[in-house]
Amino acid sequence: MVTKIAPINGVSARLIPQSFGERVFHREIMRQYLSESALEAVKRWERGEPISTELADEIANALRQWATERGATHYTHWFHPLTGLTAEKHENFYEAVNGKVLSGFNGSELLQQEPDASSFPSGGLRSTFEARGYTAWDPTSPPFIYGRTLCIPSVYISYNGQALDYKTPLLRSIEALNRAGKKVAALFYRGVERVYPTLGIEQEFFLVEKSLYERRLDLMLTGRTLVGAPSPRGQQMEDHYFGAIPERVLAFFEELEAEAWKLGIPLKTRHNEVAPAQYECAPIFEELNVAIDHNQLLMDLIQRTARRHELVALLHEKPFAGINGSGKHNNWSLATDTGVNLLSPGKNTRENLRFFAILSIVLNAVYRHADLLRATIATPGNEHRLGGNEAPPSILSVFLGSQVSAAVETLEKAPELPRLTDKTPISLLVPRLPAVLRDNTDRNRTAPFAFTGSKFEFRAVGASAHCAPAMIVLNAAVADSMETFLKEVARRRERESSREMAILSVTREFLLESRPIRFDGNSYDPAWHAEAAKRGLSVSFHVPQVLRAYVDPKSQTLFTRLGIFTETELHARYEVRLERYVKALGIELHTLLDVLRTQILPAAFRFQVELTTLLSSDPFQLLSTASAPEKTPQQVWFETLQSHIQALQKGIERAETLWETILQLPSVEAQADAVYESVRPLMTELRSHADAVEKILPADKYPLPRYADLLFRF
Ligand code: ADP
Ligand code: MG
Repeated sequence: MVTKIAPINGVSARLIPQSFGERVFHREIMRQYLSESALEAVKRWERGEPISTELADEIANALRQWATERGATHYTHWFHPLTGLTAEKHENFYEAVNGKVLSGFNGSELLQQEPDASSFPSGGLRSTFEARGYTAWDPTSPPFIYGRTLCIPSVYISYNGQALDYKTPLLRSIEALNRAGKKVAALFYRGVERVYPTLGIEQEFFLVEKSLYERRLDLMLTGRTLVGAPSPRGQQMEDHYFGAIPERVLAFFEELEAEAWKLGIPLKTRHNEVAPAQYECAPIFEELNVAIDHNQLLMDLIQRTARRHELVALLHEKPFAGINGSGKHNNWSLATDTGVNLLSPGKNTRENLRFFAILSIVLNAVYRHADLLRATIATPGNEHRLGGNEAPPSILSVFLGSQVSAAVETLEKAPELPRLTDKTPISLLVPRLPAVLRDNTDRNRTAPFAFTGSKFEFRAVGASAHCAPAMIVLNAAVADSMETFLKEVARRRERESSREMAILSVTREFLLESRPIRFDGNSYDPAWHAEAAKRGLSVSFHVPQVLRAYVDPKSQTLFTRLGIFTETELHARYEVRLERYVKALGIELHTLLDVLRTQILPAAFRFQVELTTLLSSDPFQLLSTASAPEKTPQQVWFETLQSHIQALQKGIERAETLWETILQLPSVEAQADAVYESVRPLMTELRSHADAVEKILPADKYPLPRYADLLFRF
């Protein structure tokens, strides 16, 4: 039944174009509220230069005035600790002194806060004697009002300046890309002062009925179903993808969009996804740092809005076995402050040379740092999603599409480099390439990393994931590849007849080197696994081992050289990832044991009692002892059930001992390996018996909402 929904903020749920950004302290608003010198100060702060107390106070005052005029009562530094969620600690804007109410928000509170933050994961960076952490305003992402709270996007660092969050290294990676990118852009254009990554994030999720969700401990505690026999109907009919959005979900979407729009999140697309009860929405791309802040905010908004509609949004990568999981396509490109998309094919030879040069730089980056990129997406949730016959496989390959591939091959195979003129007649530099590409007919949904016309799309990021880890590595890898490219061009400049020829020659070499990672075929084909292994690509998705790429000497060199992570910071990230892997699996295992012990086994026992009653009653005795000692169906059922009960009982005991043993292991690495190698298979085994029990029990005796209920309610 659909409950009547009261509109948020007193406005009915409908996208009002003019409301875009009305809860954001964006540049235009700043101009209205701030003096010239305060505006200049914001820009200086953006470049990492200090702001005077007076100007900081002026900015804080303006922010408070703007926010309180719009109903805000509190403010918070809004930051991204390594939990993957955002964190906030609200303070109201006031101070009551001797009965008088004064402002409790000034410049120093705007610039810096000291949350009591000893309980965030830090990978050992905060020793107990110095548990202080600081948050500091990030002026590259605008403050916004969420509910009645002014949120100030912030970085989060330790007492001695080490990054404790995702934003700090992300901003450092954007800066590294800018440093190298400007020099690369200068090979082709004059007057480029800034090169920055752009990002458009497609977000998938499931919606389930809240009342059913509340009866599934597994969904509540782990975000996915740990047991559940398949529904006879899943996604076989292929009728959900792009189907008509159900009434109730549409109401949810309308409210989501209206609210997102006010927060300056440029949501554009909404549609049904492949699996039943699965949906997607996507904003228009933005500067990468803001896009990620917006995605974090959007995930929260999706969850809150769903609840208001008596629904629950599942952002887990694989909430249901046997049907599609959820991802988050990261559409990434590079832009200049002069308005050029560096990955957009050009209209003339020069522009196309730029296009292929940048393309080769990205391919090379992904090739050289493929293992590190895989590490960013190696999460407990993705473990179930990647490599299934529906999501990108865990082998990192790049899809270019037939036109770009053909051009790339022509360039690779040319015995000599073509002489470059404005009319160079090789397919590599055909000015008409972009028109064909924009056609967008050339699609391959099976590749984890795909070129889609004017951007690359990294599709292996999990639906619940923070995008920063993947984007930090991509930015870093590309910055690194750019530096190598620049060095090589400079070196060859002497040999080649022109700078263009030097660029073309390095481009060709980069393309040749990155060949093994390019694959336009069907990545789901098992033959691809063998082929990929032959090419030297990593194939196994043993999560703890994949994570080891973080502390590979190659990664350490990359990050320290670019100033993104110190060795200590990097090691801390690795620790946190392993720790969280072990903890997540520990929670899953114990939730499963709880559901088995307190719900599924008792239900099975009750049904056995019923069967026994039947068996001991006269008519059945008669039936079974007739002529041949044939078993009655009731006996067969009883015994089958009994065998699963016994298997479950033994499995539960083994699981408990296993977990005890794992906790005794000396390092988190060893624990994670053991979890991957023994806990997961045991959980699968337990599940198979639980699902068999589900198939035997009468529908009204099975204690949990079943797959069909969860997936086909609306
Ligand atoms: P596709 O269907 O090829 O995935 P869409 O037009 O649906 O393309 O775009 C998917 C996402 O990619 C959107 O968020 C869109 O804004 C984003 N996008 C488009 N161009 C760029 C770009 N230059 N940089 C980053 N993201 C982009
Ligand atoms: Mg897409």
